Amino acid sequence: MSKVYFTDMRTKPGRSLPDKLELLVKRAGIETIDFKDKFTAVKIHFGEPGNLAYIRANYAARLVQFLLAKQAKPFLTDANTLYLGRRSNALDHITSAFENGFNPLAVPCPVIIADGLKAIDFAEIPLGLKHCKTAKIGAAIAESDIVVSMNHFKGHEQTGFGGALKNIGMGSASRQGKLELHSSSQPIIDAAECTSCGQCVKYCASKAIHLNADKKAEIDYKKCVGCGQCVAVCQFEAAQPVWDNSTDVMNYKIAEYALAVVKDKPHFHVSFIMDVSPNCDCWACNDAAIVPNIGIAASFDPVALDKACADMVTNAGANLNTVLNVKKQGELQNIEKFKLIHPNTDWLAGLKYAQEIGLGELNYELVKVE
Ligand code: SF4
Ligand code: SF4
Repeated sequence: MSKVYFTDMRTKPGRSLPDKLELLVKRAGIETIDFKDKFTAVKIHFGEPGNLAYIRANYAARLVQFLLAKQAKPFLTDANTLYLGRRSNALDHITSAFENGFNPLAVPCPVIIADGLKAIDFAEIPLGLKHCKTAKIGAAIAESDIVVSMNHFKGHEQTGFGGALKNIGMGSASRQGKLELHSSSQPIIDAAECTSCGQCVKYCASKAIHLNADKKAEIDYKKCVGCGQCVAVCQFEAAQPVWDNSTDVMNYKIAEYALAVVKDKPHFHVSFIMDVSPNCDCWACNDAAIVPNIGIAASFDPVALDKACADMVTNAGANLNTVLNVKKQGELQNIEKFKLIHPNTDWLAGLKYAQEIGLGELNYELVKVE
């Protein structure tokens, strides 16, 4: 059974949340890794500018200071996005990271965009698994000696929630890798619901949607890469995922990619169960957090970590004035909230598969760190 270490949001003079983060990772055993002179990829999502739910740079600063004290060579990293936005090439991505506080003034290490200027620098890591024979991982992450992931735990429109597996699996993939991960998830348009607002046309990075002669959105499936952006942007439920097994397959592929990132090298994972927004930090906005801030969890096992975080969100009561639409604070305790928000996703299937391929285990012991 894997151990997941957890600390809550309570503080007192002399023990700030960054202090608790450092204490947590030490208690979880991070110091058993030999960091001396090792290139250490700190995999994080810098947040799309406009989104304010991403992990605060202050936490990254403390973790990096700790790694420097261990004589590591740390760098903050993420790979470019498939989406239109401000993180789809290295220049915009680094600028966005700096704007969001991940800059050398605040965090004492470089920011390296893992798959380079135009998202084509990747290493192909052999896997030979059911869904992916290889994984196309951003070169800087693939070439690192050690991976430490900092994961913002929140909902996700395509995978149910986004945690450690999503951050290291999907997040480390180069553009070609991301295409492979999304390739089973081309959406459909329900013309009867389409209001012709054109948002999906505007946000489709692949220029795969147009308004047809009837002024209804229409997808060119030869161009569509299945990124799901139109589904997320459509306010009228006209752009819809095809609910066969496509989201499960994406979760399976993410698990395989996550395995490619961490196999054969030391790795360690920290998840921040704070500002648990319903959707991904890739959005240039964040809807209200569905549950109160819960705390920080850390483990060597990313599967156990995701399961523990998901359980903690399930066990928490819901916040008022959120997409969950509850009438009294604390309602929905012991209800699986990601399922309510994203009813056609099944995150547990992805975690079970991750266990099956040896990435980690679902059973965990939660160890509280005061
Ligand atoms: S965003 Fe939705 S409603 Fe608007 S054009 Fe696209 S499919 Fe139609
Ligand atoms: S049509 Fe939708 S899923 Fe396909 S590429 Fe465009 S935004 Fe992505």
